Amino acid sequence: MLPVKDRFHLPEGVIYLDGNSLGPLPVGAAERIEDVTRNQWGAHLIRGWNVDDWMGQPLSVADRVGKLIGAPAGWTVLGDTLSIKVYQALASAVMLRPDRKVILSDTGNFPTDLYMAEGLINQLAQGHELRVVEPDAVADAINEELAAVMLTHVDYRTGRMHDMDAITAAAHAAGAVMIWDLAHSAGALPVDIQASQAEFAVGCTYKYLNGGPGAPAFITVRPDIAETVAPALSGWLGHDAPFAFERSYRPAPSIERFRVGTPPVLQIAALDVALDAWEGITIEAVRTASIALCEHFIAEVEARVPGVTLASPRDAAQRGSQVSFHFEQGYAAMQALISRGVIGDFRAPDIMRFGFTPLYVDKADVTAAVDHFEAVMKGRLWDNPAFMARGRVT
Ligand SMILES: *Cc1c(COP(=O)(O)O)cnc(C)c1O
Repeated sequence: MLPVKDRFHLPEGVIYLDGNSLGPLPVGAAERIEDVTRNQWGAHLIRGWNVDDWMGQPLSVADRVGKLIGAPAGWTVLGDTLSIKVYQALASAVMLRPDRKVILSDTGNFPTDLYMAEGLINQLAQGHELRVVEPDAVADAINEELAAVMLTHVDYRTGRMHDMDAITAAAHAAGAVMIWDLAHSAGALPVDIQASQAEFAVGCTYKYLNGGPGAPAFITVRPDIAETVAPALSGWLGHDAPFAFERSYRPAPSIERFRVGTPPVLQIAALDVALDAWEGITIEAVRTASIALCEHFIAEVEARVPGVTLASPRDAAQRGSQVSFHFEQGYAAMQALISRGVIGDFRAPDIMRFGFTPLYVDKADVTAAVDHFEAVMKGRLWDNPAFMARGRVT
């Protein structure tokens, strides 16, 4: 069944190993955006909010995302960007534990998650502390001081994966609220957020879910608290009755309290088409294929590419859907690879990162990518000033 390359536009001559950062354009997405633009916005004008259900889509399309992370219908809502959803989840979590002042995270977390936590703590000015430990020290750092544990499930640099169920259970045993960031998990591997019992999960839809640049984030909240927890950003679309235009905020009695403002209608249209690419495909099948691709890549690179060392866990069970290698001149080496049509990316200080997305990458692509990697490293093709100049986005 996999891959389903005909469901994506992939430029000729490109082997795309960066779908963990921005998924490719799904077939039909450009047409849907054009259709919504001309035939809904253009023709219906403001009536589109009702006749085209623009207002309901942050919930209905969110449920399609929810299916891929084990969230039952009605647990998930789309909107804003992931940084905002991290802030909302964390602010709500600390309000659930007013007598505790410590937020635990790890050095493998993505910087924006930690920055948002720092900003929240400064704003609250109630003496909260962000405690950041090494990833393998998280379990030992869980104790009864903690208000919340906030972790990214799969490390964006190395692909190392936390044990979601074990850490969530430990956090709960210590009385802390659990927040999972699924940015590198949703659409990459099976997640059962309901079974984990975590209070909050957040993630983005432009990585493995292929929603396109600027696609909205998602937030999933456990139903027993979704209806009572204080939402941190009290925007009008999270109000119980937005169009009553009441003087004061009253949160909606559902996950909708985590909505903030006007939804990105065109982006949600693109995401809806992107989710069609999963038709007939299970996340379990994607995981099985992803492991095979990653194992093949590691074996081939270690057999024939000199000068690089594995930065990812060797055990597939502890790894997400990406493989990273250390190389001091990794930035230039990645630019050399990109110039040959093999697109991965670079994360400071020395990580060459390759994402494996079985919807549109197969074993022959991986072998061909390693052929180029071997040529770049054996020929020192990275040692070229043209490959050393850094762009604004790496
Ligand atoms: C990609 C990513 C983000 C990006 O946040 P935006 O607000 O969407 O830019 C945040 N956190 C993690 C863990 C990520 O991987």
